[in-house]
Amino acid sequence: MKRCIFYVFVLMAISACSETRKLSRTKPAFAPNIVVAHRGAFKKNKLPENSIASLQEAIRLGCTGSEFDVRMTADDSLVINHDPNYFSLPIEKTNYAALLTHTLSNGEKIPTLREYILAGINNNNRTRLVCEIKPSEISKERGQRIAEKVLALVKELRAAPMITYISFDYDMLKHMAALQPGTPMQYLDGNKTPEELKADGISGADYHYSVFKAHPDWIKRAKQNNIRLNAWTVNDAETMDWLIAEGFDFITTNEPELLLERAPQAPSAKGWKLVWNDEFDYRGLPDSSKWGYDVGGHGWGNHELQYYTKGDTNNVIVKNGRLTITAMRKQEGANSWTSTRLISKNKGDWQYGRIEVKAKLPDGRGMWPAIWMLPTDWAYGDWPASGEIDMMENVGFKPDSVYFSVHTKSFNHMIGTQKTRGISLPDNRTAYHVYAIEWDKDRIQFFCDDVQVHQFANTGKGFAEWPFDKRFHLLLNIAVGGDWGGQMGVDERLITGAMEVEYVRVYVNGEW
Ligand code: MG
Repeated sequence: MKRCIFYVFVLMAISACSETRKLSRTKPAFAPNIVVAHRGAFKKNKLPENSIASLQEAIRLGCTGSEFDVRMTADDSLVINHDPNYFSLPIEKTNYAALLTHTLSNGEKIPTLREYILAGINNNNRTRLVCEIKPSEISKERGQRIAEKVLALVKELRAAPMITYISFDYDMLKHMAALQPGTPMQYLDGNKTPEELKADGISGADYHYSVFKAHPDWIKRAKQNNIRLNAWTVNDAETMDWLIAEGFDFITTNEPELLLERAPQAPSAKGWKLVWNDEFDYRGLPDSSKWGYDVGGHGWGNHELQYYTKGDTNNVIVKNGRLTITAMRKQEGANSWTSTRLISKNKGDWQYGRIEVKAKLPDGRGMWPAIWMLPTDWAYGDWPASGEIDMMENVGFKPDSVYFSVHTKSFNHMIGTQKTRGISLPDNRTAYHVYAIEWDKDRIQFFCDDVQVHQFANTGKGFAEWPFDKRFHLLLNIAVGGDWGGQMGVDERLITGAMEVEYVRVYVNGEW
């Protein structure tokens, strides 16, 4: 029996030794992705947020980071919990032992920071531990003491290379940067410029994504100042794609599985470089540095009914994160409807690239919305010789279909030779879809929600068939009636029709 106990002690000593060696050997080789699981990867498998199980799931998924929140109990234990209260117990005013009277929904007890870090460095060198130190609600000084205790524990566990610190408490981060210069840390509150962060030794900006939408220049300035870029908490593919296109280092998300799947599919992951975009995150008329207007009511070559106004907020407005173009039954001179025809300008001309527009279409017989491109220089002569690219057209009398076309001198609807493809897309008026082209010297490919739906290839027989070797610009409009849109008349009860656009993004091939 004694001998048995002796062996157990020997085994424990050996395992303790190997534990130390393992810890000291851990060299980070962070997963080459941008995915930071917010409070661990908890959501999909219904794990408790900030549990060791959610951390382990983030590691299993191969996220480059897993975030968690640190607080300190009344008796100075560092524990992991997001809210200031744990089962209605205020953590800062409760002793650690009292917290153990409750368990997380998966049976875990509230993790201590020591337990959390040990779990995070056990057989893991790919997922960084993104340690949010919550400000103390008692005092700034207590917050700084928490930070000092965290740094000391991390040092003791030799975990520093695996850790990035984040906090809403700027003074706390400054204090930590002064104690340990060069420690990776990101500020959360969104009210410091990249230059201020750099001056204070804070190496990253981890801001709510709306901050970057409000200050798009901070993205470039962060890169110029070697400030790492992270955004929270991004749970939808549209925002993910935008941040990926903007070259963010990290994206913090409750949907790590979606982001891990999304990131390699994003245009920028396929070599496309974002060169022009409007996310429509402002209020008022469309940004005049990006958009202009075609104005008038002469029928536009198709006997259309509308008068296109210039900057009339009845017909075009940006709010709630999107652009809305509204056709409205309203007499304007000889025209019975008004509407808007928006054109990209001021460098809004491109020869080749990926152009994508996420939009929802108007409802009603007589509506004729279009997302399309015309030549800027008309180098091969008037329409249709210089070409036209219709990224998306829809006519209200065929509400379930959308159409993709090119027009050239040899191929156009006047002589019935246009190259068109229609597809069924029944929810185009209730759901947003991404209409895109990828255009190079050999072909134009048309996509709806990343599925290729049409292609027009360069035949090599000259401009009559392929005038698409010149600059084109983008148009967004709703026509009313006209030769095609009005083929079945205009619904007499119809008062308005609106096309809503979430974003316009233009990419060029990074190799060009
Ligand atoms: Mg947090």
